[in-house]
Amino acid sequence: DQLAEVYKTSNPRSETIYNAATEVLPGGNTRSVLFYHPYPLSMKSAEGSRLKDVDGHDYVDFLGEYTAGLYGHSEQIIINAITEAAKKGLSFGSQHEGESVLAALVGNRFPSIDLLRFTNSGTEATLMAISAAKAYTGKKKVLVFDGAYHGGAFTFKGGKSSPVNAPHEYLIAKFNDLDSVKALMQANGNAGHVACILVEPMIGSGGAIPGERAFLEGLRKAATASDAVLIFDEVMTSRMHQGGGIQSQLPSDLRPDITTLGKYIGGGMSFGAFGGKRAIMELFDPRRPNALSHAGTFNNNVLTMSAGRAGLEEVFTPRRAARLHDRGEALRRTLQRLSHGTLMKVTGYGSIMCFHFTQTALEKIRSPGDLSEDDKVLSGVFHLFMLANGYYVARRGFVALSLALQEDELEAFTRTVQDFLQSHSQLL
Ligand code: PLP
Repeated sequence: DQLAEVYKTSNPRSETIYNAATEVLPGGNTRSVLFYHPYPLSMKSAEGSRLKDVDGHDYVDFLGEYTAGLYGHSEQIIINAITEAAKKGLSFGSQHEGESVLAALVGNRFPSIDLLRFTNSGTEATLMAISAAKAYTGKKKVLVFDGAYHGGAFTFKGGKSSPVNAPHEYLIAKFNDLDSVKALMQANGNAGHVACILVEPMIGSGGAIPGERAFLEGLRKAATASDAVLIFDEVMTSRMHQGGGIQSQLPSDLRPDITTLGKYIGGGMSFGAFGGKRAIMELFDPRRPNALSHAGTFNNNVLTMSAGRAGLEEVFTPRRAARLHDRGEALRRTLQRLSHGTLMKVTGYGSIMCFHFTQTALEKIRSPGDLSEDDKVLSGVFHLFMLANGYYVARRGFVALSLALQEDELEAFTRTVQDFLQSHSQLL
């Protein structure tokens, strides 16, 4: 309550901006995930790892724009690439070299991607990946996982598909539970109707829960055995290993047929992509009779292609990718040690993690359903505490480290979490 009072008295301009927004946007909001009570902060500017809000507070950015902010806020190489591209014109209404250059950079990183196409967002990438799978297999059903998030038109919670989801026939299985997959496959004519299995190799927005190796391998086998297309949504996880996301850690015969990408790969601009096996992606070859159509005014947008190239080629080098991953692993291990024996549980992999407040033991958090008892009040208190101490994290405890964060910022963040654990020990 005290933290909520402090929040209200110290953020009057954010409140004014929010109130004005409610006149023109439903609930003052255009990205559901960004709303929290009583009103969210409005940011004004950002530099490096820092955000500044309209009331003059500085925050160290640990949200990292839900992984899209990998490069931090003012990576000069990317800003130069965007500026140079903008000088030559924003939109040509034609092909341009930037698209094949970025496509080659992405394709070379993901051995499972022979050919790819760009979209404007990860949501569109999911839409197109499913369409490709349905066209390729001639089948209809889409097997997904409870608690997964594949974009604004693809959310699955409490075993249900959201009313705003794209109208596919979904089968909703339990993450990290191969038996639930097999049961659904069997119930659907031994997968005679399943066009694709769509999975995040680590549940991202749903709580940063890694897919176990045996589970991912089992999905590959189940898909192959039933002529279904295996789609890995690596929109968030592609940052894990510079050489191709989480799938790069799987044996080469256990890779997906299609991969969807997004977030940081566009250098921080709007971006999405889907790609995979030649035989599937060739369905979109416009030289073919009856080619599948896939359009989008901004698919090859000049600024994104340029920013993406600069980021992948010049900034996200193998060395920096590995260091970020290791930093994330070290930070999470430290946080797990500090919170041991409390309700705070820190899940994740590499530079992506999530704070949960639950009785469930850390090792028992294997699917989003295991978090259904999460204490929302405590996670709200934690959020306000972190904001009050100058750390910007998601309301639901999600954290994605950027390349701009320095070692001392990670250490100070850790100390603040430790302060929280101490000052709230009676609740935890
Ligand atoms: N897939 C995953 C795993 C995501 O985390 C997201 C976004 O958070 C998306 C797809 C959708 O991407 P976008 O927000 O660019 O539409």
